[in-house]
Amino acid sequence: MFKKILIANRGEIACRIIKTAKKMGIETVAVFSDADRNALHTKMADNAIYIGPSPSTESYLVIDNIIQAALKSGAQAIHPGYGFLSENAEFCRQCEANNLVFIGPPVDAILAMGSKSAAKNIMAAAEVPLVPGYHGDEQTPAVLKQAADKMGYPVLLKAAAGGGGKGMRAVYAAAEFDQALAAAKREAKASFGNDVMLVEKYLQQPRHVEIQVFCDQHNNSVYLFERDCSLQRRHQKVIEEAPAPGMTDELRQRMGTAAIRAATAIDYQGAGTVEFLLDSSGEFFFMEMNTRLQVEHPVTEMISGQDLVEWQLRVAAGEPLPCTQEQLTIRGHAFEARIYAEDPAHDFLPSTGTLKTLQTPTESEHVRIDSGVIEGDEVSVFYDPMIAKLIVWDSDRERALQRLTQALSDYRIGGVTSNIAFLYNLASCEAFRRGDVNTGFIEQHQEEIFHRRQQDIDYAAPLAAQAILAARQARAKQLAEQSSEPDSPWHLANSWQAGGINRADLKITIGEQQIVVPSQSQALVADGTKVVTDSIKVVADKIKIVADNIKVVADANGFNLFTPRGLFHCAETAPDLGLDDDHHSTGNLTAPMNGTVVALLVDTDAPVSKGDALLVMEAMKMEHTIHAPEDGRVSEFFYQPGDLVDGGAELLLFQPL
Ligand code: ADP
Repeated sequence: MFKKILIANRGEIACRIIKTAKKMGIETVAVFSDADRNALHTKMADNAIYIGPSPSTESYLVIDNIIQAALKSGAQAIHPGYGFLSENAEFCRQCEANNLVFIGPPVDAILAMGSKSAAKNIMAAAEVPLVPGYHGDEQTPAVLKQAADKMGYPVLLKAAAGGGGKGMRAVYAAAEFDQALAAAKREAKASFGNDVMLVEKYLQQPRHVEIQVFCDQHNNSVYLFERDCSLQRRHQKVIEEAPAPGMTDELRQRMGTAAIRAATAIDYQGAGTVEFLLDSSGEFFFMEMNTRLQVEHPVTEMISGQDLVEWQLRVAAGEPLPCTQEQLTIRGHAFEARIYAEDPAHDFLPSTGTLKTLQTPTESEHVRIDSGVIEGDEVSVFYDPMIAKLIVWDSDRERALQRLTQALSDYRIGGVTSNIAFLYNLASCEAFRRGDVNTGFIEQHQEEIFHRRQQDIDYAAPLAAQAILAARQARAKQLAEQSSEPDSPWHLANSWQAGGINRADLKITIGEQQIVVPSQSQALVADGTKVVTDSIKVVADKIKIVADNIKVVADANGFNLFTPRGLFHCAETAPDLGLDDDHHSTGNLTAPMNGTVVALLVDTDAPVSKGDALLVMEAMKMEHTIHAPEDGRVSEFFYQPGDLVDGGAELLLFQPL
C-alpha cells in the first residue's frame, strides 16, 4: 500500500479522501490555491502545498503544478477526486511519465469515455443499449439539424465533452434548433474548450439510474448496485438515493451486467459509474460512463457497507477487489442531498459570501455529512458553490426519508442563500415519498415545491399565526420578568388563547406572499393536525415545537415552519410594506450576478413579445437568459458581448408598449 498520496482537489471530496487515507495509515498531501490557504482540506492533510492563484485554471487545473507538488512532497500516488483533472487523460499520462500512480483508470479508458460520441460507438459494439441519436463527426449546423429533423422532436443537444449538465439544450421544435445549437455550443466551448455536439432523442420522463462498477488489475469486476439520481435541476443531480425505488432483482442484474460489459469493453480499472436512462417499461439506455468517483458515491457506501475510496486505493496499489459479487449485499436505504449556496427561487443562481452561520445536524450511524467548509468560511466565486452533502441511512426508504427531512430541519445556514428549504420541500413532496420519480420531477412539481399553490399557503397561515403570536407572548413574558410588576395583566399578550378577547387580524408574509389571517381563523387546526396551544414550547424567545410533525425555528427575519407539506418561511409583515402595484413590471433586467454578456438577441427598437429572449449572460460557466417582461422594445443595451458586468447592474433599457 502507498505510504503517501497527494490529493489533487479541494473542498469536501479532498476532505473525504483524507479521512480514508488517515484510517488506512497513509500520509496525505493537500494542494491549495490562494483562496484555499485556510480551507479545511488544507488543514486536514498532513502536508499542504501551494499551487497558484485562486482561479482553478491557474491552480487546480494546472497539470504541471500538481505534478511538481507531488514530486516535491514524495507522494507515490495522486487521487484526483472528481471534477478538475479527474477525467483528464493528459494528466493521467503525466502521472505515469513521472512514476506517480494515478488513482483512477488507465489513460486509454479515460480516452475511450472522454468523448460521449466515441463512447457510444464502443458501447454499441459491446451490445450495451443506447439512446437513439446522432454521434458522428460531421458537425455543420445543417447536418446536426437534419439529424434532429429525422429523429423527430424533441431532441437533446449535448456537448460531446460535456459534464455537469453544461452545453446541453432540449429542442422542442425545428424552429428553435438554430438558437439552441448556438447556445449549447457557446456553453460547451466556454466550459470544455470543445463544442462538438451530439443529438439525441429526448426521452420523456425517464429515470436516471446509474450503476457503480469496480474493476481491479486482475480481471475481477463487480457492480455495487444502483443509484437513482432522477431528481435533477438543469440536468444536475439534487437528491440521489440507493437502491432505486421499485427496482427488481431481475432488472438490477440486467443493468449490472450491462454496466460490467461496458467497463470490460474498455479494460477498465478502479471505480466507475455507468449511467443509464430507464424508461417506464423497464427498458434502459446507456448515457455515459464516468471514469472516476462520483459525488453521490456515499449512498452506495451506506447501503453496501463498503468504503469506496479504500477500494480505489487498494485497486490502484495492485490489490484484488476486496469482495466478490456474491459477497456484496444491500442493507437498508440511503439518500444524499446536495446542499448548495444558491437561490432556487431565482433559477438556482449561485450565491457567494461568508458562511456566517453553519450549524449541522448531529452525525450518527444514520446521518453523515461530507463537507469541506466550516462556519466563517467563504463561498467564493472561484469554485462550485456546494456547501455539503447530507447523507442519511435507515432500514427502509420511508424511514430514511424521514431522517432526511429531520436532518434538513436541523441545518442552519446564514450569510449566503442556501437551497435547504428547496430540498426540504422536495423531500416532502407526496410523489417523491411514493418513489414516483423521473428526471422532469422538479419541473412537474414546481408549484408544490415552491409553494405557489393557494392550498399550501392556506395550510401554513394558521400555523404561522400561531408561531407569531407565541413569539409575541414570549417577548411580553420576558419584558414582564424584567419589569418591576411582573404579575401585571398588561404583560399577558395572550390574545391567541381559546375564547380570548382582543383578537386582531394578523398581517403575515409567507414566502413572498403577503396575507392577512383573520382573527377567527387563527384557529388551532390545520390539515387535520391539531395544534394544541399547550404544545407550543417557548424557550427564551425561541419557539420549539408547535405540534406533532411541525417544527418552528426562529431566524433573523422571522420563522421557518417545518411541516409535512414543506418548509414555509413566515414573518409578521412590517407595517410599511404596502404593495406598490401601479408601476409596470420591469422584470429582471438587471444582471443576476457578476458575469459576462455573451449575446444580444434582439435589435434595439425592434418590437418584442413578452417572454422573448433579449440577452444572454454567462456566469460561473452557466448561461442565463434575460427575457422580455412584457410586450415592448429594447431602446438601449448598456453592454456589448464580452463586457463584464456586476451583479445588479442594469443591462438594458426596456420600453413597455
Ligand atoms: P452530463 O455529463 O452533463 O451530466 P449526461 O449525459 O450525464 O450529462 O446527462 C445528464 C442528465 O440529462 C441525465 O441524467 C438526464 O436527466 C438528462 N438526459 C440526458 N440525455 C437524455 C435524453 N436523451 N433524454 C432525456 N433526458 C436526458
